[in-house]
Amino acid sequence: MTETKKIAILGAGESGVGTAILAKKQGFEVFVSDFGVIKDKYKKALEELAVAWEESGHDETRILASDLVMKSPGIPDKAPLVKKLHEKGIPVISEIEFTSKYTDAKIIGITGSNGKTTTTKWVYHLLKNGGLSVGMAGNIGDSFAKQVAEENFDWYVLELSSFQLDGIVDFKPHIAVLTNITPDHLDRYNYNLNEYVASKFRITENQSADDFFIYDADDEIISKWIKENPVKSQKLPFSLQDRMEQGAYIEDNNIKININNTQFIMPTSSLKLEGKHNSKNAMAASTVAQLLRIRKETIRASMEDFQGVEHRLEKVLKINNVLYVNDSKATNINATYYALDSMSAETVWIVGGVDKGNNYAELLPLVNEKVKAIICLGVDNAKIFEAFGNCVDMMAETQSMQEAVQMAYKIADKGNTVLLSPACASFDLFENYEDRGRQFKDAVRKL
Ligand code: ADP
Repeated sequence: MTETKKIAILGAGESGVGTAILAKKQGFEVFVSDFGVIKDKYKKALEELAVAWEESGHDETRILASDLVMKSPGIPDKAPLVKKLHEKGIPVISEIEFTSKYTDAKIIGITGSNGKTTTTKWVYHLLKNGGLSVGMAGNIGDSFAKQVAEENFDWYVLELSSFQLDGIVDFKPHIAVLTNITPDHLDRYNYNLNEYVASKFRITENQSADDFFIYDADDEIISKWIKENPVKSQKLPFSLQDRMEQGAYIEDNNIKININNTQFIMPTSSLKLEGKHNSKNAMAASTVAQLLRIRKETIRASMEDFQGVEHRLEKVLKINNVLYVNDSKATNINATYYALDSMSAETVWIVGGVDKGNNYAELLPLVNEKVKAIICLGVDNAKIFEAFGNCVDMMAETQSMQEAVQMAYKIADKGNTVLLSPACASFDLFENYEDRGRQFKDAVRKL
């Protein structure tokens, strides 16, 4: 008789509890350990499974006696317990690594510094409308592990953070998508950009010549890396500026995709989502759909009716001919760059929060061109005042969303846009970016 394998799961969030469900089903002896307090809904799920769990600390002796450890993406490799596991030679893997062993479904993995959620949801929308049996997971909704335990899809579209990719061994997507790379989360990568880039490229690490890699060819960090570290899968780049023999590009305001000898064309004007970044996400998503041979009419229709995702350049309301746009998810300079770039009207910009080492100079040309007034919404706004004090007609600050929106209402003239695109994390004044976005929308609706 083979002995029951012991798995310890560190972190009892969506991916930890999902892994517990799948591991239990696969016959593992499961122990879940969380350093913090576990949410009630997850405790209930673990109780129902009759899985042992602990919170507010780790029973190291028990965890170090496991055969395998699943570490939730939020726990850094530097954590003392993780170091001890490495020293003892106990494999520490991520949820996607564990889960992919228990499904034959083909995987579309989507990573990048920005655009992951939008592209993931867009691909899912296309595949579902194309009649495929498809699930969506990763940082979205139910965990991959839980879905594999409970469903039986042919395809999965997975949104993958670099932390998920750090914990892979054999995992490989049949189709990998890399939206872009800009410095982010460098605190987890020894402040070394190369380590972060390497982590993103792990999405291609186990791919073979039968697999595909879709990526932004205009992104210098990506292009440089590929030159120095060739990938084995078939490359399908997309570009806003260059014609692609194989891959996607924009020409005469049309998206054009060439794969082998077939071409797909549709006008960019029929997309609901605006901005260059969304043209890129559109190319990435429709390349996946064409690769999977979804009918062209279905691809066109599903590209056209995709509404986008809440808190990403979300149009809230038009009041007195002023449009209010919620881009609360823009938590870094790069995301806000694309938001400002996509503004076609004079803009009153609400910005600020917890800055992750922002270099605001990158936004100066766009601010000069498009922004007439800035409202800072953060605890410490000194850097923003310093960066833009000389280039707009008006700057103000507040620590209340309602007041920020009321200020913007007074400043904005007919035809202007009021944009919340903070370029910062939200933890100084809000619970998270969703809370910030919702407070913005509530304040706009109260005007
Ligand atoms: P992620 O899931 O990677 O955080 P989202 O799809 O949620 O990305 O988009 C977050 C923000 O990033 C958007 O509001 C937008 O401003 C910006 N963004 C979206 N797609 C891209 C892209 N392809 N390149 C650069 N920035 C993007």
